[in-house]
Amino acid sequence: MAEAVVDLSAIRHNVRTFQRRVHTGTEVMAVVKADAFGHGAARVARTALDAGATWLGVARAGEAMQLRAAGLTAPIFTWLYDETELIWLADVDVSVSNVAELNHVIAAPNVRNVHLKLDTGMHRGGSTPDQWIELTRAAAYHEAQGSIAVRGVWSHLSHGDELDASHSRRQLQLLTTGVALAKRAGLTPQYVHLANSAGAITLDAPECNLARIGAGLFGIDETGAGLRPSMKLMSKVAQVRRIKAGEGVSYSHTYVTPRDTTIALVPIGYADGIPRIAAGQASVFCRGIRMPVLGRITMDQFVVDAGDLAVEPGEPVTIFGDGGSGEPTIAEWAEWAQTIPHEIYCGLGARVPRRYIEEAQR
Ligand SMILES: *Cc1c(COP(=O)(O)O)cnc(C)c1O
Repeated sequence: MAEAVVDLSAIRHNVRTFQRRVHTGTEVMAVVKADAFGHGAARVARTALDAGATWLGVARAGEAMQLRAAGLTAPIFTWLYDETELIWLADVDVSVSNVAELNHVIAAPNVRNVHLKLDTGMHRGGSTPDQWIELTRAAAYHEAQGSIAVRGVWSHLSHGDELDASHSRRQLQLLTTGVALAKRAGLTPQYVHLANSAGAITLDAPECNLARIGAGLFGIDETGAGLRPSMKLMSKVAQVRRIKAGEGVSYSHTYVTPRDTTIALVPIGYADGIPRIAAGQASVFCRGIRMPVLGRITMDQFVVDAGDLAVEPGEPVTIFGDGGSGEPTIAEWAEWAQTIPHEIYCGLGARVPRRYIEEAQR
C-alpha cells in the first residue's frame, strides 16, 4: 500500500554536484551506511559509483560485507567493527584509532588497508593527539613488516554544517599537522579525508583528496548546495467516512472535530517510520491540498482531515516529496518531529517497499 519511490537521477545529480564543488582531484566516497539512509544500500551504491563516486563508506563491518555480497567491487571503507568481525573484512579498508585496534588488524591476516583516524575536535573516536606519534610509528613499523598498508589519514568534522568555517579550518589544520607527523614516521598515506556532505561545501580543503558524502546524496541540503531530494513517500487512502461535529478521532480522542468532517484513513504508521510525535503538526498531500493528521498516529495507520472533499479509497497520498507540487518535504516532517531528516530516512520501516525510478515523477 505504501511505497518509497527513490529517484536515482536525484542521487546522480547530487553526486555530480559534490564533484563540482570539491577540488579537482578530490574523490567522492558515497556513504551508504544504514542501508543508504533507508534508500537501499546496494542500489544507491551502484548509482553513486555510476555517477562518479569512487569509494563506498559504511559505519559497520556487516554493511561492508553486504555490499561485497551484492557484488560491489569498489573500494569500501568502514569505521566501526568488532575485533571478531575483522576476519570477514578482507578487501575492505578499516579505520584504526589506537594501537590496540592496530594490533587487532595485524592479527587479522586478510585485512591490509588501514586509515589512521586522528581526533581533531569531534571527540567521537580517533587517536588523541598525544597518542598520534606512537600510533603512526607503530603503523610504520608494521607497514615495513608488510602486514598492513596505511592508505589514509582521516578525521571527522564537528561543525561541518556551519557556514562560518572557522571551526572546520582549525580541524583541517590539526589534520594537516597529523599528516606531516605520519609522513615523518615514514608513512605515505594516499588519501587524506575530513569532510562530510556539509563540510565539503563549507570548507575549502585542498589538503584533502577524498570527501565522505552521506546526507547530501539524498538531497539533505544543510548548506544550500542545490541538491535534489531523493525520495517520495506515498500511500493511498484506505477508507473514507463522514463524522459529526464533536466526535473524537483515534486513540484517547486527543482530537475532537469542531464541525462535521470527512475523514480519510491512511494506512501507514509509526512501524513504517512515521514519527508519532509529529501528530498535531503533520499533514499529508492528497487531491492537491494538505490534509492535517487528526489525533494520534498509530502503529499502522492514521486519520486525516479531508474537510468537505469527496475523497475516495485508493486516491494517492504523498507523505513527503520534493515539495514541488505543494506536498510536505522531509525537512518539514523532521521539524514536526523535532529531529533531522536523517533520522526520518533511517527510521523508514522494512514494511515499506522501495521502488526505483530514474526521473522525478510528480
Ligand atoms: C555519517 C558519516 C559521514 C557522512 O556524513 P553526512 O553528513 O551524512 O554527509 C561521513 N563520515 C563519517 C565518519 C560518518 O559517520
